[in-house]
Amino acid sequence: MRIILVGPPGAGKGTQAARLVERLGIPHISTGDMLRAAVKAGTELGKKADGYMKAGDLVPDAVVIGMAVERIGEPDAQKGFMLDGFPRTRPQAEALDAALSAAGVQLDAVVLIEVDDSLIVERITGRRTDPETKRIYHMTFDPPPAEVAGRLVQRKDDTEEACRARLKKYHGETAPIIPFYEDKGLLRRVDGVGSPDAVTARLTAALGG
Ligand code: AMP
Repeated sequence: MRIILVGPPGAGKGTQAARLVERLGIPHISTGDMLRAAVKAGTELGKKADGYMKAGDLVPDAVVIGMAVERIGEPDAQKGFMLDGFPRTRPQAEALDAALSAAGVQLDAVVLIEVDDSLIVERITGRRTDPETKRIYHMTFDPPPAEVAGRLVQRKDDTEEACRARLKKYHGETAPIIPFYEDKGLLRRVDGVGSPDAVTARLTAALGG
């Protein structure tokens, strides 16, 4: 299956994608994870992306499109993929469309995880990641076990200020991709409020069980 997960920052895209890809046997492709890895490795691409990411701005389309299209062309993505955080702008959605058409393949579903803005800041500022397992926790809603608590890290862009900037970008630049996919009959809406298990169950149902 070729699936896109869309939703505001903190909607649970990363958490849910990690759960779903195991069952579906497809790679989880997160442009945010790829960019963070590039920043950490100090590559040219990482150097270009770093400042935008810290500020909660979008990395320019010219940088992200090539990276994402190249990734979905890799062998493990030929049987399908779950895209998380891409596309994030209308030009990105159009570039993805062109790349998939050129490859003679089609998307199966675009799933929008809906969470109200009023819940997002609390979700984001409490978020922590285990650098060893990549498991995402929340200090209040999904607290880590004592043995991993000491090694958890907080993303640089998970401050309240950057979160508000990212929400603004989401509404201004990413939300316009929703009608683009709605017009193609691909959009499925899922309520992202509730426990991770409840949301996984809704997503599984939206993807046809
Ligand atoms: P995420 O992990 O998906 O929340 O992404 C973290 C940050 O990486 C975003 O706030 C952007 O700065 C950057 N980023 C990730 N994916 C994209 C994308 N498709 N287009 C532009 N910037 C992106």
